[in-house]
Amino acid sequence: MEKLKEITSGKAKSLYTTSDDRYLVMNFRDDTSAFDGKKKEALLGKGAVNNQFNAFILEHLDSEGVNTHHIEVLNTTDSLVHKLQMFPIECVIRNRASGSICRRLGTEDGLILESPLFEFFLKDDDLGDPLINDEHILSFGWAKEEHITEMKKLTYKINEILSKLFLDSGLILVDFKVEFGLLGGEKIILADEFTPDGCRLWDVKTGKKMDKDRFREGLGDVVESYHQVADRLGMNIKLD
Ligand code: ADP
Ligand code: UDP
Repeated sequence: MEKLKEITSGKAKSLYTTSDDRYLVMNFRDDTSAFDGKKKEALLGKGAVNNQFNAFILEHLDSEGVNTHHIEVLNTTDSLVHKLQMFPIECVIRNRASGSICRRLGTEDGLILESPLFEFFLKDDDLGDPLINDEHILSFGWAKEEHITEMKKLTYKINEILSKLFLDSGLILVDFKVEFGLLGGEKIILADEFTPDGCRLWDVKTGKKMDKDRFREGLGDVVESYHQVADRLGMNIKLD
């Protein structure tokens, strides 16, 4: 399927129309951003590793009963996906406290939470992606009650499936962000991406950060770490 016209260029990915208006091509770029786009850099090869990493994870989730927008990998940096009506919402689960929750609640980095914590954020860079709750979503009409219930249920399920997958490769899934959309106006589908750009992964033995915090904190070896995670999970990442 050929890429036709670019319809969105986000901070890290671009979406293109195809000859079939049910499908889009998602192009993973090397662009990397943090702090709501305030820190930016192109990291050579990140698009390729993230595209194939994402395909591996979404195919695994599909095999475990989570419907995703992923259809197939087209080349090193492009994948074909179902075109969805996206909710303007991010769903986060935290198994340990890190990042924004530590700043918000003064919590120790790495604190193991009594139970996985679900949070909604509004997708709005200008506002710094504020924390919101179910009431905000309903009052502002960002999603319906049944969508909220389903997004939470699916995010918890994804956490169970992926926490196990990563732990089997010696990695702790500290937290992650996912996005959902509607297919045909009713079916909730996992969209966007699951890559080390949108989650925290720590080595079980050493606590080494293997995710985008390496970029946020200027620790270096960002793309190298993503490859190391991919290798541990048995992915066969192709380079151009
Ligand atoms: P951002 O918008 O945060 O800068 P990206 O650079 O990752 O993020 O851009 C990808 C955009 O594509 C996001 O706005 C995301 O909501 C949207 N998107 C992801 N999957 C789909 C899909 N299947 N259909 C339509 N839009 C999608
Ligand atoms: N996250 C993301 N995109 C965002 C905000 C957060 O992918 O716009 C991911 C982030 O990488 C982490 C989790 O969601 O794995 C929780 O992020 P947090 O709220 O701690 O924000 P951060 O401090 O990472 O900006």
